[in-house]
Amino acid sequence: MSTDILFQAKRNELVAQLEHKGIYDTAVLQAIQTLPRHDFFTDSTLRQFAYEDKAYPIDAGQTISQPYTVALQTQLLEVKPLEKILEIGTGSGYQAAILRTMGARVFSIERQKQLFFRTKELLHRLNISVETFFGDGFKGCPPYAPFDKIIITAAAPFVPRTLLDQLKVGGIMVVPLGDDSVQILMQIKKLSETEFEQRDFGSCRFVPMLAGIA
Ligand code: SAH
Repeated sequence: MSTDILFQAKRNELVAQLEHKGIYDTAVLQAIQTLPRHDFFTDSTLRQFAYEDKAYPIDAGQTISQPYTVALQTQLLEVKPLEKILEIGTGSGYQAAILRTMGARVFSIERQKQLFFRTKELLHRLNISVETFFGDGFKGCPPYAPFDKIIITAAAPFVPRTLLDQLKVGGIMVVPLGDDSVQILMQIKKLSETEFEQRDFGSCRFVPMLAGIA
């Protein structure tokens, strides 16, 4: 069997597992079914595990999130084509690529310089058009604000006010909230400039959201 066919078979299996675990957004499932997650691994010896439902290490002590976590966060964002989405924590670029595959316009910020350059080049090579920025996600992305949706893919110690301000009224933020050990996945809907509705979706584990650049 060629590697492409093998990887496609593994992706189909992964999608079936995600459905079983409660992912129902067909656009999310379709994006996971088409996007080659193995291309986003920095360590080529780990690529064979790319369709396991697990997080793996990438460069600079960071991780590529577990597919279930990516799927759940994306489902909670309620993505529609052409929406403007801000991602905090570009990392491997996989989450940003999923959002782009779903037809969103994606703006993604990374604070680790080495990872930023590597992922920017990778997304370009894969012909996935995502606007990438090197900087501190706590500050958001004022030139392109406001956004329809904001996704934070690192553990936030609190909900950054600056980011809520850069969210449109009617918009949604998905954020893992908590300290280094464990977080609660929160979906926050912005009802008006001053009113928000929050729901929690269980515990999750992300690397910490850190202030400043590295
Ligand atoms: N979305 C990624 C997951 C990345 S892990 C993926 O699909 O692979 C979290 C990433 O957030 C790390 O790369 C980390 O460097 C980055 N990060 C942490 N704090 C940040 C901040 N304040 N601004 C931008 N990126 C941040």
